[in-house]
Amino acid sequence: MSIDWTVIREEAVAHLQALLRINTSNPPGNELAAAEYLAEVLAREGFQPIVLQSAPGRGNVVARYRGQGANKPLLLLSHLDVVPAEGEHWRYDPFGGVVAEGCIWGRGTLDMKGAVVMQLMTMLLLKRLGIPLERDVIFAATADEEAGGLYGAGFLIDQHLDLIQAEYALTEFGGLPISLGKGRVYVCQVAEKGLCWVRMIAHGTPGHASRPHQDNAVVKLSRGLTLLSKKPLPFHRTAAASDMINGIGSALGGLAQLALHLLLFPAISEWARRHLLRDPSISETIFAILHNTVCPTVLRAGGKTNVIPSQAEAELDGRLLPGQTVESFLAEIRAVAGPGFEFEPILVSPPVETSSRTRLFQCLAEVLMRNDPGAKVAPMMLIGATDAKHLARVGIPCYGFTPIQLPKGMDFLSLVHGHDERIPIEALLFGVNTLYQATMAFCIQA
Ligand SMILES: [Zn+2]
Repeated sequence: MSIDWTVIREEAVAHLQALLRINTSNPPGNELAAAEYLAEVLAREGFQPIVLQSAPGRGNVVARYRGQGANKPLLLLSHLDVVPAEGEHWRYDPFGGVVAEGCIWGRGTLDMKGAVVMQLMTMLLLKRLGIPLERDVIFAATADEEAGGLYGAGFLIDQHLDLIQAEYALTEFGGLPISLGKGRVYVCQVAEKGLCWVRMIAHGTPGHASRPHQDNAVVKLSRGLTLLSKKPLPFHRTAAASDMINGIGSALGGLAQLALHLLLFPAISEWARRHLLRDPSISETIFAILHNTVCPTVLRAGGKTNVIPSQAEAELDGRLLPGQTVESFLAEIRAVAGPGFEFEPILVSPPVETSSRTRLFQCLAEVLMRNDPGAKVAPMMLIGATDAKHLARVGIPCYGFTPIQLPKGMDFLSLVHGHDERIPIEALLFGVNTLYQATMAFCIQA
């Protein structure tokens, strides 16, 4: 039986429209209806899906395609929740599942209901064609990723690990093309930075504001924050950053390769970043790939204009490179901010790193290059975080692989969580085809 891609295209579009019309904005999430929709589709095709509620309305769905052989499964992990949308700023209703201008429009088309459909269609194709695999493939579409994943991937890991235990997992983000110069490089996520949110506290002498003095907590805190925003934390060259920068460089070749290579040497990295990378968003991303970062986001001090408070505090969003710990990070920010501050971690999640030197990564790269001749593939470190952090707790290595072929000028990162999020129908179909083939290529071999 061969695949009729015209039919698959219609099905994929219809499933994505249906999922977009179920509003799973998180908070509050309400992913149960979306989980039940997928369970119905899977059950119709002969799967035995399980819907699990982590809290009222918070739904997760898991299904399994049985292979033979003793190899541990491949897990296709996605999330059903989305971030809220300000509909008045959108060209089309973000929860309408509108098809227009060659695209499907709506919150979650890129992050990540489009990828849910890629994973769903992969499962349906395997089943319909009865592909004999050497391992199981597990489908898990979960709640709550956008708020930390405790009701979704975290819940499954903590309470239903037997259902999703796997040798590897594929989730967001990756398989995305970046256009640099003439080349086209797909980056696949192999690492992501960790999180260390910190409360920074300055103490001072209280008093009447009519008689200012030098021991003012507000002023001290401001000085510390100014230093943290001006002076970069130390340079760190990690394996994931080297693989990413060298991988993109070798795909581009020529002078671009040389310029990128310079970024990896501490003595010259900062000069190269400032002078050779003209696009500010690329330059800032490269900085974040080579440094722990810290960003003040919340301030609290005082309650009355004529009272000098005894305490001022800020919340800092800290991001840790692979290999770093809370202690090493706090030592770095203490050294920059100077003495006189307390630092209390509020939320910590360790960095995640998977080697790109595996047969699975090889399969992903080969299929991408076959489906987009002329393109290259490089590993990527995500400076944000995904549900891969929950899998890392139980040692399941994870790649970000939701292959999307976006047309030039359509910027993935500005559409994700932004207005007018949309996916070209062709890009969705490219993703279904590429993910299905990559899953087969990996799972058909022992
Ligand atoms: Zn996402």
